[in-house]
Amino acid sequence: DLQVGSFVLVPFGRRRLAGWVTGFTDDPPDVRIRPVDELLVDEPVFDERGLALARWIAEHYMSPLRDALRCLLPPGAGRDTQTWVAAECGAAEGASQLHRAPRQLQVFEALVSAGEALELDELVVTLQERDASANRSTIMSAVRSLEERGLVCVRRTLASPSVRERRQQIARLAGRRDWAQVADRLQSRAPRQAETILELQAAEDGLLVAELHRSAVNALAEKGLVKITEEPVRRRPEGAGLEGQAEEFLTLTEHQRCALEQIDEALRRREYHGLLLHGVTGSGKTEVYLHAIASALRQGRGAVVLVPEIALTPQMVGRFRARFGERLALLHSALSAGERYDEWMRVQRGEADLVVGARSAIFAPLDEIGVIVIDEEHERAYKQDSPPRYHAVEVARRRAKQHAAVLIMGSATPSLESYHQARDPECDIALCELPERIDSRPLPEVEIIDLRGETLMGRGGTFSQRLLDALDGVFARREQAMLFLNRRGYSTFVICKSCGFTLNCEDCSVSLIYHHQSREMRCHHCDFAVPVPAVCPSCGSEDIGFHGLGTERVADQIAREFEGVRVLRMDRDTTGGKGAYARILQEFARRQADVLIGTQMIAKGHDFPDVTLVGVLNADTGLNRPDFRASEHTFQLLTQVAGRAGRADKPGRVLVQTYNPEHPAITNASRHDYESFYSYELAKRRENMYPPFARLVNLTISDEDADRALGIARRIAYELQERGVRHKRGRVQFVGPAQAPLARLRGRYRYHLLLKGESSGELRAALAAVLDALGDEAEAVTVDVDPLDMM
Ligand code: ADP
Ligand code: ZN
Ligand code: ZN
Repeated sequence: DLQVGSFVLVPFGRRRLAGWVTGFTDDPPDVRIRPVDELLVDEPVFDERGLALARWIAEHYMSPLRDALRCLLPPGAGRDTQTWVAAECGAAEGASQLHRAPRQLQVFEALVSAGEALELDELVVTLQERDASANRSTIMSAVRSLEERGLVCVRRTLASPSVRERRQQIARLAGRRDWAQVADRLQSRAPRQAETILELQAAEDGLLVAELHRSAVNALAEKGLVKITEEPVRRRPEGAGLEGQAEEFLTLTEHQRCALEQIDEALRRREYHGLLLHGVTGSGKTEVYLHAIASALRQGRGAVVLVPEIALTPQMVGRFRARFGERLALLHSALSAGERYDEWMRVQRGEADLVVGARSAIFAPLDEIGVIVIDEEHERAYKQDSPPRYHAVEVARRRAKQHAAVLIMGSATPSLESYHQARDPECDIALCELPERIDSRPLPEVEIIDLRGETLMGRGGTFSQRLLDALDGVFARREQAMLFLNRRGYSTFVICKSCGFTLNCEDCSVSLIYHHQSREMRCHHCDFAVPVPAVCPSCGSEDIGFHGLGTERVADQIAREFEGVRVLRMDRDTTGGKGAYARILQEFARRQADVLIGTQMIAKGHDFPDVTLVGVLNADTGLNRPDFRASEHTFQLLTQVAGRAGRADKPGRVLVQTYNPEHPAITNASRHDYESFYSYELAKRRENMYPPFARLVNLTISDEDADRALGIARRIAYELQERGVRHKRGRVQFVGPAQAPLARLRGRYRYHLLLKGESSGELRAALAAVLDALGDEAEAVTVDVDPLDMM
């Protein structure tokens, strides 16, 4: 019965441990072999292809195979197993065999009346309600005897997340009768019962008892006219889509058709094909995805669509639902554990063959995949920041190859690495451009506002005159505006004007951020918070000032500046509750607000026809981060934000405030010039040996003791040199160790060390040997292969 993916119990020393079968050998190693104790679940948990994927992840990202395999398990499933028992035949047949075995008969009858498989615990509870003398072991032995007689079947599965299945009572009319006549007879004595009968008659498949008149239903049930059953509630995620989604497939433009032809051709030939779909926002990428998915589904193959953060893209989910309906399963972390498990199981059972989800949806249990779409492929959210630290785009590429499927990576601002590959004819990703917006709608005009001039004129911080005038115009014309600032909270930090003291987090090396509403100073890394001090904690001065700008303060200033203007704010502080994103976006789409202020959350693909002005309050927040991708991120973010303006028939205007008006990231974004930015940035990367010209591995060494952390970091440098990896020189080299930009986090001191090389294989080989040599000290080290977060 053992297969690859079987979940088994094996003896390990004196203990018994659960594990997965990862292969078989005819050539056993020279150690004592012990037999497997038990097969824990009937069906294998993953297959050969899943295993191969997990092996690749474990090797490439240097994480234990166990962690990689966990990606393939049903979400929320623990290592526990569940036993399900179901009756195999009707009551009569069982009774005829069981008149001498009362316990078995009792168990069998409970199963027959349940009408579905019962989990063993559930069965025990049910029986104990009827007969207090029943206990688990007698019931279990009865089940075994019943199984031998062929009256019940027993299935063992991995346990679902520990949420109790929600159940509801459904009322249905019992049997076939002339119900109108029955109602008629009841009418005079019991009008409510008559009414209930008519309601049930009109309903196709029963009604919720909770929605009917309680005592009337109960009375009818007692008379045997109505049958009440308990049924599990299907936990389906809410359709978070905004209204007004087109259900028809649109006739493609010439550029779109060109992309689709490539896709269809590869699907027909059942060959892997990778495609980078580079098109500005509104150029029709999503419509291409929809057509490609339809092609794959027509072939009887499934499809996976990854989006960076699903809660931020309700419109897109709405469009997919409108076209594909129930075939779609949603998989993302904002769902409850039960919802996620149910959706995953729908995919595994083959009830859904289109999966839309965040990063981990790339592991969805589809048998056959025709198309994998990765929208906004440049987004950092695709990199997992806990073990295994995989990049979903790379995993997608492997998986697409395994299934001979088409991989479509879409973006208006592809990552430098992807674009570089797509331009290389040797590489397995082709480039496909959608150079225009649909209907040749113009891209919005972007104006750069030099804040240096503004400051010289003595205007303080938030709004330049030009932005204020533009906002005035928008509100006067009853249009809408979006204001973007990549920092939440009220102001960034508090500083004492007498002694210069700033308030820092106790556990992290960052200053605390002032939050006006809660009157707190909060750490954005660990959520440490203290009340706002009334006097300087250092010198006692009352002269305390708030510096810098956050979304909360901008909202405040708009409300003060423009009387009667309705303001909405969207950032991590206002989107805590379930469905909060969708609610805010919906309110804005319904024109219940005039201006939406937010962090990068509002930069994503929302389509608001009445937005004619987008203001970027400070384009520089990300530019000065100690990260070689800082320019790239700024360019991507500005391009994306600018794309929010003028999506419908009204032209859009974008105003960008900056202290760096000549920076190529800002000037090129303002001209929507990806190519120029790409050449500029590529040259810098080549010069400094950064991706795409090198592979990186980032090591972070952290410890509560700063000296110990530094000591380990130095030892790593030494061990690397011993193995021929040199400091800042050669094919394989390292930089550091140095204090990490975030020098202290949650009470741990952090150092880092960056490995660079042409091939990540060489880097990994050297590193594996070093980590081995470190022994226990390796526990202080976090290894991030192909890192995106350099902090
Ligand atoms: P992107 O994903 O690149 O932002 P979309 O696919 O969302 O672009 O298309 C932008 C807008 O143009 C949408 O409103 C969409 O309905 C519309 N659209 C896309 N393709 C076509 C087409 N072939 N004909 C007409 N309208 C289209
Ligand atoms: Zn002070
Ligand atoms: Zn902190």
